[in-house]
Amino acid sequence: MFRLEGKVAIITGGASGIGEATARLFVQNGAKVIIADIQDELGHKVCQDIGPPEDIISYVHCDVTDENDVVGLVDAAISKHGKVDIIFANAGIPGAQNRKGIVGTDYADLKRVFETNVYGTFLCAKHAARVMIPAKKGSIVFTSSVASVTYGDVPHPYVASKCAVVGLTKNLCVELGKYGIRVNCVSPFGVATPMLMNGMGFNEKSKAEVFVSEIATLKGETVDANDVAEAVLFLGSNASKYLSGQNLVIDGGYSLTNVALG
Ligand code: NAD
Repeated sequence: MFRLEGKVAIITGGASGIGEATARLFVQNGAKVIIADIQDELGHKVCQDIGPPEDIISYVHCDVTDENDVVGLVDAAISKHGKVDIIFANAGIPGAQNRKGIVGTDYADLKRVFETNVYGTFLCAKHAARVMIPAKKGSIVFTSSVASVTYGDVPHPYVASKCAVVGLTKNLCVELGKYGIRVNCVSPFGVATPMLMNGMGFNEKSKAEVFVSEIATLKGETVDANDVAEAVLFLGSNASKYLSGQNLVIDGGYSLTNVALG
């Protein structure tokens, strides 16, 4: 049920972290994968590492904030594999990590975060839908964040962007359901990727470990990128055929506790 044999998947932000782990798992489960990113060297390296390159896994440069790039990405998948069954629109950035409140939030930073996390996600869904609608099937998966369900610890632009992704998930679920296309998002917490450790200032692994060790279900372990990848595999596969419009929170129960991040 969880296998992806015969399916073609696009994964944005696939050169690192959660996207990379998902690309590996998808290939292990029989999918043909195109990873897209702006880190070209890393993207090619990941492809070679996962291998065999080209027929099973390939890399396309795509800045998700540029609609021409997104058009090119989807068209590359069509010309290479003839279809797109799954898109994991996962590329995201944390934005500035100031804790100066709304008055101290820089408009340029707000726009930058929205351009990648919201507009980029939107464009990926738009152009995936363009080819999924005539095919009358597909699974669209976005990456939101635990910041879409817990409030107060993370800067406003990131929280607002990730809540927008949840709204888009639900609205698209309604529009695209009649074409057999499902739309869901995953909301991870505390995966020790470059974005969390460098971009969000958790530059000591121990700090993230301290947070998650407070969560009973995780028993002191950090969430692994594979834990998120497994959920995306489920959402991409036929095992989740009646699941649409959902925000799957992968946090070991963190969002239901009162543990403060900040
Ligand atoms: P990461 O930094 O390892 O990976 C993010 C990838 O996105 C990078 O390879 C980066 O080059 C790429 N990217 C950034 N901007 C891009 C653009 N404009 N076009 C194409 N690619 C672009 O971080 P990650 O933690 O794996 O992040 C993946 C997603 O997970 C993000 O959307 C992030 O917001 C979300 N997320 C992460 C965590 C966590 O704890 N790590 C928690 C919640 C949500």
